[in-house]
Formats: sequence, C-alpha cells, structure tokens
Amino acid sequence: MKRFYPLIFSFLALGVQARDLQINPGIRLPKDSLEASHLIQSLAGFLEASQAENSANPYVWPAEKFETYLLLDEFKGIEASSSFKDEHFYQPQLCNVAPLEEGQYWLQISYLGLKGDTSILRASFDLIAHPDKDQFKFASPLKRNTRHWKEYKVGKSLFFYQDSLYTAHAIQYDQLSSRFDGNLKSENKANIVYCCENLIAMERLLGLTYKIDYNGYNSSVWAVNEAGTKIMALANDNASFENFDPHDLWHARLSMVISRRAVDHSVDEGCAYFYGGSWGLSWEEILKAFKEQVASDSAMDWRELKEKPQYFQTGEHRNSADYVVCALLVQEIEAKHGFEGVWEFLNIGPREKGNAKFYQKLESLLGISAEEYNAKVWELIEQA
Ligand SMILES: [Zn+2]
Repeated sequence: MKRFYPLIFSFLALGVQARDLQINPGIRLPKDSLEASHLIQSLAGFLEASQAENSANPYVWPAEKFETYLLLDEFKGIEASSSFKDEHFYQPQLCNVAPLEEGQYWLQISYLGLKGDTSILRASFDLIAHPDKDQFKFASPLKRNTRHWKEYKVGKSLFFYQDSLYTAHAIQYDQLSSRFDGNLKSENKANIVYCCENLIAMERLLGLTYKIDYNGYNSSVWAVNEAGTKIMALANDNASFENFDPHDLWHARLSMVISRRAVDHSVDEGCAYFYGGSWGLSWEEILKAFKEQVASDSAMDWRELKEKPQYFQTGEHRNSADYVVCALLVQEIEAKHGFEGVWEFLNIGPREKGNAKFYQKLESLLGISAEEYNAKVWELIEQA
C-alpha cells in the first residue's frame, strides 16, 4: 500500500503559518499507530518551532539542548529560496524512522523543493527522537555520535575530542576566555568545545548530512551562546585543538556581550591584534612585520589610511595596517584608563565615513585631535 499523507497541522492559534510535513511513501513508521501519530505530530511541532528562538522550542530534548541548538540554527530560514523567490520553496519530508534503544528513534528528514519535474535538495538532517509522555522530544545526534570520545576539563572549559588534545592550548583558551570575560564584565561563562577535523566531519557528527549552502566548503566554526554557556564546534582543522587562535577568541568573547556589528570594526580588530596577535603570530611579530612593510614609508599618512585601507603580508595572510594602528591606540588607552577606556572606544558605534566619532572619542580619551592624529600615531609607532 502506498502511504503518502501530507499532514497539515494548524498552528494558527500560535500565530504562525500552517506547514506540511510530508511522509516519504513506503517508509516504515512505528507499528503502533498512536505512537506513530505522536511522533509525527511532535516532529511537525519541532520543525515549526525551529524558526523561532531556540530556547522557545518546547520539543527540544532538554538533556542535550546545547548540542541541539547548534543543529537548530541550521533550520532557520530552511524553507526559503532566494533564487525562486519563494519563502516556502523547500518542504520537510520524513525519510527514515529507525528504532533505537529505550523507545528512541533515529530520524532522517530532508528539505526538498520542486521546480517543474526536478526536485531540489536543500538539506538533510538526522535527529534522535526521545519519548516523553505522549510526545517526543528531539536532539542532535552529536552526543550519541561522540559517546566514545575523550573529554578534558580545565577551569570553566570542557573539551571533547576523539584521539589527542593540545592541552596547553586548552589551558590558554580557558585562561584567555576568563581574562576577556573579566574585562568585558561577563563572568561565569562556561565553554563546551567539540574538536573536529573539518566541516564535513562536524556536520555529520551534528546531524546535518547535507546542506546545499555549504557545498564546496570544508572549514568553519559554529557556536551558540545560551544561558551562560558557549558551545562551539570547531571544524577548522582542529581535531586536536592544534589551531587555536587567540585573535578569534577575542572576537568570540566580545560577541557574547555585544553584537560585533554594533561596535567600531577597526577598534574591535585593534583589540584582537593587541590581545591575540593574528594568524597564529603574536602581537609583537605582527608589529614587527607592520614596521618593516608599512611604517618604513615615512610619507605614510595615517589619517588617510583610515579612509583608504592598505595591507601588509604575514606569510600567506593579509593584514590591514589600520588595525595595527588601532591596536597601538588600544594599548595606549588601556595603559591610561584601563579596559573601561577601551570599552568606551569600542562603543562609538559602527564605522562612518570620515570617522568623526572615532576622532571625538580619541580626543576625549587621549587628548589627540583629528589634526594631530598623524603626528601622534607616528610617535606611538616610534615608541612601540
Ligand atoms: Zn579579526
């Protein structure tokens, strides 16, 4: 018998649009029809709620909520296609319901869109369905997929890894996180870090077996901040946490306090360079390269540079010279006013043409006017 029944659930009462969850014809659903119905209704609820805040989704399995939130972020906007100009082009289809232990099920769900005779796959997800009274709740399979991994706890940080871990990096990560959080007045943040080889490996562990958005890519870092915990999946050649970058850690900790789009980007980068170097090089090494390649030109006008960026190389990486100048200003401000001053400097808001707010704040913090800027920056470089 061919089974194909789009199930339409009304969520109008919740103020959201009704959607279809399709059941792939021919899949083996639980034999108990009541259990099957509970499973499908719960899943439809989970998918519907996936578009809202993660913490507001009542169908998330609480014991593994952090791991599940990483996957839930991948459901946001999943139905929309910009090329076909359709908010609901892709629709979910349940493709597999395989029984596990203790009444759980392994589910596979694909989001498919139909254009003429061609069906287009946006993404495929794995989920673990956990029975909960007359409902089911859902989790990423990350915990299950990494149940034989090792763990390392240091301070407020918990690392999960498969074979070996650069514990020196883990310790540095924990210490720097505490220092940045302390400066940013955002103490008590716990860290959960999953160390993965690359994006393909990480996606599979997490339960995203395919997403068209990531085709052709192999590297990324995914993170979720929730209720005083930051959970990260490192998928940038970091199975052993060999490639720890304090520069990126600064950006990550700042983003837990304020959106990086709300602060001045050059000051944010200046902090990242001063506190964490860049591309694996220390701040001192970056400064040396800057002096050799940029500050060697005595005709350099630093105010002009702010409007028309110039770059210098470290290895195969490009660095903006203005970010290094900002790092020197951050250093000076911190020496004079502590981090409070740096925080003020960050909070001048997003960059604007001419950088009027940047110069105003600099004048109030260091007494450097826009007119004096070029000469004062030269002094800072000479002292550095
Ligand atoms: Zn940066």
